[in-house]
This record gives sequence, C-alpha cells and structure tokens, in this order.
Amino acid sequence: MSHIFPRNSRASLPVIDRGEGVYLVDSTGKRYLDGSGGAAVSCLGHSDAAVNAAIKAQLDRVAFAHTGFFTSDPAERLADALIAHAPAGLERVYLVSGGSEAVEAALKLARQYALETGQPARHRVIARRQSYHGNTLGALATGGNMWRREPFAPLMIETTHIAPCYAYRGQDPGESAAEYGQRVANELEAEILRLGPETVLAFVAEPVVGATLGAVPAVDGYFRRIREICDTYGVLLILDEVMCGMGRTGTLFACTQDGIAPDILTIAKGLGAGYQPVGAMLCSAAIHDAIAAGSGFFQHGHTYMGHPVAAAAALAVLGRLTDDGLVERAQTMGARLRTALQTAFCQHPHIGDIRGRGLFLGLELVADRETKQPFDPARKLHARLKAAAFEAGLICYPMGGTIDGRQGDHVLLAPPFILEDAHIDEMVTRLGTALAQSL
Ligand code: PMP
Repeated sequence: MSHIFPRNSRASLPVIDRGEGVYLVDSTGKRYLDGSGGAAVSCLGHSDAAVNAAIKAQLDRVAFAHTGFFTSDPAERLADALIAHAPAGLERVYLVSGGSEAVEAALKLARQYALETGQPARHRVIARRQSYHGNTLGALATGGNMWRREPFAPLMIETTHIAPCYAYRGQDPGESAAEYGQRVANELEAEILRLGPETVLAFVAEPVVGATLGAVPAVDGYFRRIREICDTYGVLLILDEVMCGMGRTGTLFACTQDGIAPDILTIAKGLGAGYQPVGAMLCSAAIHDAIAAGSGFFQHGHTYMGHPVAAAAALAVLGRLTDDGLVERAQTMGARLRTALQTAFCQHPHIGDIRGRGLFLGLELVADRETKQPFDPARKLHARLKAAAFEAGLICYPMGGTIDGRQGDHVLLAPPFILEDAHIDEMVTRLGTALAQSL
C-alpha cells in the first residue's frame, strides 16, 4: 500500500523514471512527449545539463543558510538579473518557494504598504472570474474559480470578482476588440466605485489566463486602461505571471506585450523550470522604500525563502532563457505550433477557439462551433481527453473551466522551448488521435 496522498484511486499512476529533453520516460520505458511542461513548468525540458551543473556546484558549496543570518551569492545575482530584465519600475525582488507563496507575499506587501502610507481602510482585493492564483488561503480567495473557493469561503479575505477579458465569449457581435477591451476594463472602475475607492487595496490579474481557461490573452488596450484606472484610484496593480511569465509567451515578462508594468509582479513555475521549487515577487522601489522608511521591514517570511540551491537553479535557468535565445525560440516555435494547430483543427467541428501567445496556447472544445455551446459537463470531456492523450504518449493539460457558471472544456499546450519541428508534428498527431478517441 502506498502512503502518499493525494492519489487518484481510480488510476494507478505510472512511476517516473527519467527525463530526456522534451520527453518523460516511465519505469516501463514508455515515453511521453511533455506537451504542457507539466503545468507550464518545464520550459527547458528535462535534464538540462547547465541547470543540473549549477545545482550540483551550489550543493558542493553550501545547501542552506537561513536568510535571517546570511544572504548568498546566487540569491543576490538572481535578483540583479531579474531586475535587469524586468519592466521599468520593478526594482526589488523577494524570493520564495512557489507561486502561491509569491501571491501571498504580494497581497501582504500591498496591505503593509497601505498601512505605512496612512491608508488603513484599504483592504479589499478585486480579481477576475475564471482566474487561478494558487491554493493557499489568500491566493485561493483571490482566484475566481468558484468551485475551488467554495468549501473554504468562510476562511477567506474579502475579495470580489469582475469579468475576465475573454474575447471569444465576452465580445459582443458588432463590437470591436478595442471597444470590448475598454468596456470590460471599465468593470474595474465600476467595482472600485461600488466598494468605495478608499477601501480598495489591489487588483490582481494574470496577463494571460492559464489554469482555468487555457491561455487567454487580453485584447490590445485592456491592460492599459486597467493601469489607468488603478492609478486614478490609488489601487495597486498586481500581475500574476506565475504561469505565463519567464518567456512562456515569447517575452520574458508577459505584461511587456500589453505595454504596461504592474506595481507588484509574481513569477514561479518557469523560474525554476521544475529543477527546484522557487518563486519570486517583484515590486517597485516606491513600495519597498515606503516600508523601509516606515516600520523598516516587511512582516513576512518563510524558512526556505532565498534558498541558495533554488536560487542557483533559477539563475542558471534565466541564463539559458536570455543568453541562449530560448525566449525568442518560444516566440518562433510558438508561431509554428499555432500554425500547425490551426492547419490541423481549423475545420474541426468541436474546436471553437485556438488562442494564446508564444508557447502558451489553448484550445477550447465546444459541442457546436456556431453557437459556442459547451459540452455537457457530465461527459467530463477534458478528463477523458487527458487520459486518451496520456495513453497516446502525450502530456497535455486539459481543464474544465467555468463558462457562465457552466463547466467548459479547454486544453493548454505549453511545451518546453527546446522543442523541434518534429515534436510539433508528433504533438498535433497525438492530440488529434486523443480527440478522436475522447469525443
Ligand atoms: N498563480 C498562477 C497564475 C498559477 O497558474 C499558479 C499555479 N497553477 C499559481 C499562482 C500557484 O502556484 P503554485 O502551484 O506554485 O503554488
């Protein structure tokens, strides 16, 4: 009997043996093309020699030294390298162990900043429906996946949710993309006014929605209007790039493509590329300095923050992404994968939308392309597709997001940036097989 939980009692999971580039190999020798990098984690693929070497070298120097006593060379260098590449205005880095931790830190930093700048009434957080920000209580409250939140609702901070920018379903016929973007961004202003601007702490959003809808970028102009509204009302803008950051969309930071910078930004997943658990929160000097000049320190902390081995891994990952041209590769290979998906599935009666940026692509499955009617949730199509793809040797990330309160079926593709043209063909063929079997 296994003592590990959670475990899906209906399926006995294969045992992972090793990783080889874009493939994972189980203990029976079966090979799986990692078409989603797990959950958009493995941006370098598996067994990257440079990252492995950096981890081993750091382990041989020192594995751990508590940040209450020491800083470390890899943590300092990682922070410098992140800021050198970050959008203007982000100038300080707080290193943690994953995405939820980064989001928690962002929420608490925002609150402490409000207190230290004489705005104690600011405590309300506005986020978006059909979003995911993590599973710890603050992050869970912020996320707009009602099914996940419901059991824990009594334990949560006060959060309200506005519509996401989801053109496939939200844009009205006869409305231009630009008009739609302004209309849906203006929901933020209406919500701030409804709650009372002096009580609103922050607005939190993913630049490209990941874990609930399978790669949905905002339309052009949406985030510029969001930035304007936040500035008007003194609301902090927190962008969550835990999934879409670190080059996944073809630029190191996804928000660059929206032409804005947030006050606080979170990253994880691709930061450690799966080689170590690591996340980070980046913030403006203004926020950092207000706290430094006030109480003097951010009232937060985790034992493993700034872990030297995790930082060494992340630094090596960042080097691979920026020095070896892998961010640009995410852009070019992303365009090729998108074209291949469009060629294979643009006539498919049950693929309603193909979307995303870079190597962060989503497909939305529908019962009827004309009416965009989702499948009956009882069919659990996304789960069947995941199983069929896995059987066919493809790891993709199907998800059942909610559409107007109903379950919808989406597939996220987020392969390693090192993939080759032959892998794209393999991925599209296997996905086609899995779709045919599960529909
Ligand atoms: N934010 C976003 C946008 C995410 O996609 C995720 C993970 N799917 C998280 C936060 C939480 O990250 P973690 O699972 O590392 O805690």
